[in-house]
Amino acid sequence: MNILVMNCGSSSLKYQLINMETKDVLAKGICERIGIEGSRHVYSAKDKDKRVIEKAMPNHSIAVNMVLETLIDKEVGVINGINDIKAVGHRVLNAGKYYPNSVIVDENVKNAIRDCFDLGPLHNPANLTGIIECEAAMPNIPQIAVFDTAFHQTMPPKAYLYAIPKEYREKYNIRRYGFHGTSHSYVSKRLVKFTGLDINNSKVIVCHLGNGSSISAVMNGKCVDTTMGFTPLEGLMMGTRSGDIDPAVVEFLMNKEGLSVKEVMDILNKKSGVLAMSGISSDFRDVEDAANNGDEDAINTQEAFSYRVAKYIGAYVAAMNGVDAIAFTAGVGENDSAIRGLVCKYLGYLGVVINPEANKVRGKESELTTPDSKVKVCIIPTDEEMAIAEETVALISK
Ligand code: ADP
Repeated sequence: MNILVMNCGSSSLKYQLINMETKDVLAKGICERIGIEGSRHVYSAKDKDKRVIEKAMPNHSIAVNMVLETLIDKEVGVINGINDIKAVGHRVLNAGKYYPNSVIVDENVKNAIRDCFDLGPLHNPANLTGIIECEAAMPNIPQIAVFDTAFHQTMPPKAYLYAIPKEYREKYNIRRYGFHGTSHSYVSKRLVKFTGLDINNSKVIVCHLGNGSSISAVMNGKCVDTTMGFTPLEGLMMGTRSGDIDPAVVEFLMNKEGLSVKEVMDILNKKSGVLAMSGISSDFRDVEDAANNGDEDAINTQEAFSYRVAKYIGAYVAAMNGVDAIAFTAGVGENDSAIRGLVCKYLGYLGVVINPEANKVRGKESELTTPDSKVKVCIIPTDEEMAIAEETVALISK
């Protein structure tokens, strides 16, 4: 059974075609600069050379059709016809209050995604376009919406409520939603399995540390809290996002620098975080190189990032009244042993004992703690495409 996973951005379309029996990625690619001059399709298929196809893609409809044509192409394709695709799983950013799970797309689902455009102005419209174009190109193939916010819908009110007037909360659905849901769902389940826990009696914390970063607390398989909020800006310090900050800074900067709200929000989303604190890069590899050469800003950035991760871990241990296992995942979590080491230095009070040799591992499902450690700390690589494909299979098999 082949599942096509789609992730549509405003000017891009990323996809993977996965054989769910073998878990092989048969082909994957990205259409970039859709609607902009210089668009191109980068395509790679299993056991074949990578291809870059430079061709105008004025809209998503043309991009979707180009992807399908490539997948069934006699020479570079990997399937015989469109009907070899069983279903399409779409990553959709925000389902607002509507869906706590993935759903098969129908008119109601499309209306709900539309109704949440305000909550995800950059992503939701592009996600919906991807769905509509796939429906047109593959009319008999089920389309599934997998929401980034769905896994966090189990958070209790005490975790998702903001202390602002009810009038505004209710009028505009302002609350904490949380993001990276497919990753937190997938990694928390893998962690429970890997550490041999009983999911119905488990307390785990997932640290998804990438360019965007978030942590979730997952009790008995259900998310009880997460660090991102109304938008992905809340919570941890990230590659270019500030994370938690006193909102009064926004007004202060606007007044002092004559900036608009949009300009300040742009600074907080795109010019802050690790990039701003280090003054070097948003990429942890560059910051680590500089820290190893004694750069004080780089050292402070690594310290501040790790400190904030450790503080949230502490908060989530309190939220769940304990923790059985902690996972590091995503680009930084899977690869950066320095950051993992710095975070774990704060966890001695939990009885965490790290094996420094094990902490050198990169990108492989593995345990970093010694056998006598009271809490297991592990690397669990995330695979958001596979998670979306698995959700898709689960829904169409019902
Ligand atoms: P995204 O949020 O874009 O999906 P990823 O999870 O792919 O991000 O993480 C990307 C980030 O991971 C990079 O910006 C880099 O900081 C970090 N990273 C990737 N590989 C390494 C590595 N070997 N060592 C340290 N950091 C790494």
